[in-house]
Order: sequence, then structure tokens, then C-alpha cells
Amino acid sequence: MIITSDTQRTNLIEGGKRLAAVLEALRTQVAPGVTTDTLDDFAERMIRDGGDEPCFLGYTPEGANRPYPATLCVSINDEVVHGIPNESVRVLREGDIVGLDLGLRHNGIIVDAAITVPVGKVSEEILKLLRATEASLAAGIAAAKPGNHVGDIGAAIQEVIERAGFKVIKELGGHGVGDVVHEEPFISNFGRRGEGELLEEGMVLALEPISAAGKASVILMPDGYTYRTKDGSKSAHFEHTILLDRDGALTVTKL
Ligand code: MG
Repeated sequence: MIITSDTQRTNLIEGGKRLAAVLEALRTQVAPGVTTDTLDDFAERMIRDGGDEPCFLGYTPEGANRPYPATLCVSINDEVVHGIPNESVRVLREGDIVGLDLGLRHNGIIVDAAITVPVGKVSEEILKLLRATEASLAAGIAAAKPGNHVGDIGAAIQEVIERAGFKVIKELGGHGVGDVVHEEPFISNFGRRGEGELLEEGMVLALEPISAAGKASVILMPDGYTYRTKDGSKSAHFEHTILLDRDGALTVTKL
């Protein structure tokens, strides 16, 4: 969406803060022995207690053959995105990494964010994957300003992930957000500077670098949602919703 009023701006920023608070609370719930459906219930309850609505629950993305059945996406280890927490319930184990992707609607405006969290102690290599992917999101946000292009964001993200020795998963990427979960433009996590759609003031975008420690090929599971890496290597995902102000991006999904 394009923000055109102060009311929309206020609602976007408040929704972003609320989503950030839920994700931070979820982060503290992550521990060995915790089940994926517990995290999903926790997220749904906290969103509804705040008077907001989960916006992934019941949403059918383009290409899917059924609505998404949960509030939260929980993707463990080689699961890349969109793992379903409440159908094949799983237990988190020491050494896992878990991606938590969540969206909510606050006063009609949708915000979307994700973090990847280590479960207990994980290897140095995997910590490096998490740090590089989070840093690539910061680089993408820094490149997101009016007058730049979608390719500037993709190039910035790609550079950080590849410099750290990891791969960008190319099938998946960021998107416009606000009125619905997925809007134009699609924002690849790779690209060339100066190419792609022009970025304009007021745009609301969800930037979401998705990386792999091994090869970048992914496969879609029979549940129609869960993507995994083909080689079984671990994958990381960080996401923020941002608003393009005149001078640059405002990250709305942070505390
Ligand atoms: Mg998203």
C-alpha cells in the first residue's frame, strides 16, 4: 500500500510495534522441548488480546490450493519458510534454528515480520548464517529509499549474504504489504542496482532475505506450504515491514 494519511501512518507504526512485541515474546518462549503448536497458540492469543487479528490464518496466497491453517509460520532447520506449526506438531531440540514468521492486522493495516532464533546452543557456522542474514536485512533497508529501485534492495541483500559465504534462495522474496499480505512489487533478494521498479515515498514494503548454508535449491512439501532446502542445509529468514519516508526507510516492526 501507499500511505497517504497521518491516520494510516499512525496505525501502521502502532501495528508494527505490536507485531515486534509478539515476536520478541515468542523469542523468549523458544527452548528445547517446546512444541510448534504452543508457539502458534501463544502468538494467536497475544495478537487477539491486543485487539488485533492474525492475518496469515485463513489467508490463501497466490498459487496455494487452501487457506493457511495457522497464525504463525514455524520453519525448523532445513525448512525455509511457511512451516505449519499446528498440523505436524514438532518439538524444538537443542541445536535447532527456528524461523518465526508472523503477520497481524491492526486497524485495517497489515504488517509482516520474521526472525530466526537458535534453540539452545547452535554451531558457530549457523550463528554466522543468522548474523549474515540479519545484517543483509539491515543492508536492504538502508538501500530502500525513494528514487532507488527494487534492484538496489536485492543487490544489497545478496552482497551481504554471499560475502559471508552463504546462498540467497531465489524463489522467495519480499513484497508490498499493508492492505493485503502480499502486494506488488515482488522484491527479489538478489539483483542489480538501478534495475526494477522505482521506489516511491509512502510505499509499505516487507523485506525478507532468506538464505541457505548450503545449496540454494528448494522444494515444496506435499502440505502445499512448507519449503525445504533440497540438500537439507539449514536456512535463515529475517523480515521487517518498512515505510519509505522521503529520506529513507522507517522500520515499523521493531520495538
Ligand atoms: Mg512476508
